[in-house]
Amino acid sequence: MSDPVLRLSGITKGYNHGKPNEVTVLRGIDLQLARGEVVALVAPSGAGKSTLLHIAGLLDTPDAGTVEIGGIDMTGKQDGTRTAVRRRDVGFIYQFHHLLPEFSAVENIVLPQLANGIARSAALARAMELLDQVGVAPRADHRPAALSGGEQQRVAFCRALANSPKLLLADEPTGNLDPETSETVFAALMALVRNTGLSALIATHNLELAARMDRQIRLDQGILSAN
Ligand code: ADP
Repeated sequence: MSDPVLRLSGITKGYNHGKPNEVTVLRGIDLQLARGEVVALVAPSGAGKSTLLHIAGLLDTPDAGTVEIGGIDMTGKQDGTRTAVRRRDVGFIYQFHHLLPEFSAVENIVLPQLANGIARSAALARAMELLDQVGVAPRADHRPAALSGGEQQRVAFCRALANSPKLLLADEPTGNLDPETSETVFAALMALVRNTGLSALIATHNLELAARMDRQIRLDQGILSAN
């Protein structure tokens, strides 16, 4: 069997070590994501979802344990290597779109590709193809402020997938939308993920959405369990 796209082993993480307000957030997390697997991460607010996603996406380091991406152990790797692997292999989606306001929808998807060394014409073609898949191609030249909340978030999905990552990490990707928009936007996200064969770890409070993923895991008291 091929290596899992993501493997977390024995991850622990706390803050304010040695101080009276010391907190332990993660207490030995083991998790594997197979290629193409879409997993819901369900957790109460403050349980450490963001901490876990940041560690999995190499934005933060654990106190102990290992993070492997595509079979490569990232423990002790230099910042430059971690950044390169993150840019190449990991896409992030947040609750808020974080699009660059001065740039059009399509430019927001082109820019990360240019930063990754892709030629402008190829980057533009890829951006338009992604926008088409999520039904926002007709709005490609609009700036984020001229788009609806659901459109903004769909553009953010395209940006996260622009460089064809292996792994998508999403922190409440529809948490900021009304229920109806949330449904359309979630369907667009799942279609994109399935079309590209990506592995995804998607944090959500919404149990109906969680039930539509391949499996659910729950983070509570620093421990992961099957939901
Ligand atoms: P979630 O995303 O599930 O809401 P977080 O991962 O953001 O949870 O936070 C988990 C816990 O860790 C919270 O109690 C939070 O206050 C604490 N925490 C997160 N980041 C820091 C930090 N940089 N310093 C101190 N405590 C932090």
